[in-house]
Amino acid sequence: MSALLEVSGLTAFYGASQALFGVDLTVGDGECVALMGRNGMGKTTTVLTIMRMLRHSGGSIRFRGRDLGPLPSHKVAQAGIGLVPEGRRCFGPLTVEENLVAAARPGEWDLGAVEKLFPRLGERLSQKAGLLSGGEQQMLVIGRALMTNPQLLILDEATEGLAPVVRHEIWAAIGVLKTSGLSILVVDKSIGELATVSDRCVVLEKGATVWTGTPAQLSPDVTARYLGV
Ligand code: ATP
Repeated sequence: MSALLEVSGLTAFYGASQALFGVDLTVGDGECVALMGRNGMGKTTTVLTIMRMLRHSGGSIRFRGRDLGPLPSHKVAQAGIGLVPEGRRCFGPLTVEENLVAAARPGEWDLGAVEKLFPRLGERLSQKAGLLSGGEQQMLVIGRALMTNPQLLILDEATEGLAPVVRHEIWAAIGVLKTSGLSILVVDKSIGELATVSDRCVVLEKGATVWTGTPAQLSPDVTARYLGV
């Protein structure tokens, strides 16, 4: 499997405070990789750094062989990485449809495809996004990222704080996306669900990669040591 995303020896700071000390991870073509670790271990920082929303001080980020280092954030999106950021950030005053088409680019993911994945959104196209439930807003943010027709989708805590039934819908959608062959990097704390959808897990501890393996290799030892389970 060829590496679509290749992150190597990544280091990064917030001001004078170092947050990443050596993150290594790859996502192959069509692969779903889980980025795991306890709170504060550097998962979101890694995502922000890949998206060039935070500058890295060392190491490299390559996407389809291209060094993302010199690129501004919007060019990373254009290069083919779609982000579902932590915190369900949609444009509240805009309608569901306006949110979806705002950053759309041509490809298989259009309004019809998003409605098929999330029928609830299809029923609410003309509703203001700010009036949606938390779960519907999360579906909208995922739909918006898909409408950019990315080659790699990054989901940061897409199910956090949602009711179990909605979490289930979102995990089912992630499963559909994986089956469709989309490459995915997913950050979440639900180890059971991550193990179901992922091909590989990368575990961070104190801003560095400390373990990589398949979900089947994620032994009780590893989860107790690095994930606090
Ligand atoms: P969580 O699961 O809680 O979201 P995380 O693994 O995503 O955790 P990060 O949010 O990447 O962890 O945080 C990594 C480290 O960077 C932590 O020590 C955190 O306190 C620090 N950090 C995060 N954001 C900032 C910031 N804006 N300014 C300074 N330090 C930060």
